[in-house]
Amino acid sequence: MLRQPIVCVLGHVDHGKTTLLDKIRSTAVAAKEAGGITQAIGATEIPIGTIREICGPLFSMHGNKVSGTPKASLSCEIESKIQIPGLLFLDTPGHEAFTSLRKRGGSCADLAILVVDINEGFRPQTIESIGFLKEFKTPFVVAATKIDSIRGWFPNLGKPFLETIARQPQHAKDALDEKIYRIVAQLSVQGFNSERFDRITDFTKNISIIPCSGRTGEGIPELLMMLSGLAQEFLKEELEIKGERGTGSILEVKDVRGIGTTIDVILYDGKIEKGDWIVIGGREPVVAKIRALLKPAPLKELRVEKQFEHVDRVSAAAGIKIFAAGMEKAIAGSPIITVKNESEIEVVKAELAKEIESIEFEKAVEGIVIKADTLGSLEAMIRMLGQKNIEIRKAEAGDVHRNDVVTIESADRLKKVILAFNVKVLEDAAEIAKERNVKIFENDVIYRLLDDYEKWVSDEKKKVEQEKLEGITRPGKILLLKGLVFRASNPAVVGVEVVSGIIKSGVALLKNGKEIGTIKEIQSEGQIVERAERGQRVAVSMSEPTVGRHISEGDELSVKISQDDLKVLEELGSAEEVALAKKTLGIE
Ligand code: GDP
Repeated sequence: MLRQPIVCVLGHVDHGKTTLLDKIRSTAVAAKEAGGITQAIGATEIPIGTIREICGPLFSMHGNKVSGTPKASLSCEIESKIQIPGLLFLDTPGHEAFTSLRKRGGSCADLAILVVDINEGFRPQTIESIGFLKEFKTPFVVAATKIDSIRGWFPNLGKPFLETIARQPQHAKDALDEKIYRIVAQLSVQGFNSERFDRITDFTKNISIIPCSGRTGEGIPELLMMLSGLAQEFLKEELEIKGERGTGSILEVKDVRGIGTTIDVILYDGKIEKGDWIVIGGREPVVAKIRALLKPAPLKELRVEKQFEHVDRVSAAAGIKIFAAGMEKAIAGSPIITVKNESEIEVVKAELAKEIESIEFEKAVEGIVIKADTLGSLEAMIRMLGQKNIEIRKAEAGDVHRNDVVTIESADRLKKVILAFNVKVLEDAAEIAKERNVKIFENDVIYRLLDDYEKWVSDEKKKVEQEKLEGITRPGKILLLKGLVFRASNPAVVGVEVVSGIIKSGVALLKNGKEIGTIKEIQSEGQIVERAERGQRVAVSMSEPTVGRHISEGDELSVKISQDDLKVLEELGSAEEVALAKKTLGIE
């Protein structure tokens, strides 16, 4: 038996996620005969009958002019294969719902719709969403929404995309294609092949882009059909109900007046019955007997007397409210398992402990601190940092507290860092961080957080390197130019060309390995300068030597350097400088 795939809607803010979800729901509600929708806790179930009814026009398009396209047969092909009982849409769009509903190695959401405003293309949170989808290996389709706002577009309310596109003027069709191919290019940068869904021949190799509108409902039939097809194609195994035990994840912990503290759970495997034991994983597991299972009461007329209806059992996939004692101790994002017998509790506790551990990471004493809004986003962050070999000392879901700062305050300068994803930095934490030079990076886009941190580290390293290089004597070689002896001694002033490296005032000079004096001053075009580099012609003064006795026109002099200088150069200098330094030291 297959269960419904759980579908989450992701994308950039204001790209139309809520509007699209609402439209999907209202379109389904309108297909009453076929079953409409079923309200669940935190989710909406659209039965397959309703989806077939909504997609109906697509199948009947077979035989008219659209059937000439290869895609008309595709829709029939998909339709005939579909065995899933429906789709369960999470009511809350966005990455928080997606990542907080975690299960081992991923999200409880089986599928995703990545919403992209067709006029805007990718924005930071679009890329962020793709990051999560990649990390959790979640199949997805792209809803390229707001097609109704394309210039010259004639809306055809609620119609399939293939029907509405056929009725558009050529310039609107062209504008649409141009925008679609921008999305194709942007997806390709993220490592995905994609195509407008009706032009795809191999669905295993391409992400489908479905042009649609949350306002006019155009394209919604295809969106539902492609999602169903995707589930059938890629998720069959995941959708087989494996266990008797109910397995799920906590979406929210809520106080309900007249009932008490309840947990809203998305159940993705097995079934739950009233009277079962519930075990909630966490640092301190919570165990309780289920007193009530609640689902939203159907909306009756105008007066809603009771908000919830009691049920005795529920099967995956479902959204259900559970009431049991002690639920105030539960934490959103925690995994749950239900069992029939008290004797199974300990085994399940151990299983859940392992599951929590799966987001544990190798704690590095030398690592940084990371904080994120949900366990799932924390997990994604840990993995992303792991790929970059960035070590972590502490990773926790929740706001940045004073003790997070204290944990890291004595670390190395480049590790005195907290990366805060989509959480608040409490005031006292910010204050003490400033005081103790702990750097806190904040962002609501993970990859930006990582980019900012990496850029900071590389800038800081460059600064340190620069300081280190400034602190040593750099090699250099000068040639005493002919006819440019301005003064023979006390001090000797001669015109020179820097033939390689650099010279600075204060450095000692060697002739054939023997020290002949120290540069007192460098003058360039009448101005005193601190340094001169290769190619520059300058005047150099030295107190010690006398021209004609110790040095002569045409001599080559080298800057005296030490073995320690060479060591720093070998680490940070250019190959050219290292070669020059070695020559000066007589090593090569
Ligand atoms: P969310 O932040 O992604 O949930 O975006 P919303 O659904 O709140 O939409 C943001 C804005 O875009 C609102 O003003 C919507 O009315 C508008 N909008 C959403 N979908 C469409 C659409 O398909 N067509 C047009 N023209 N506007 C849309």
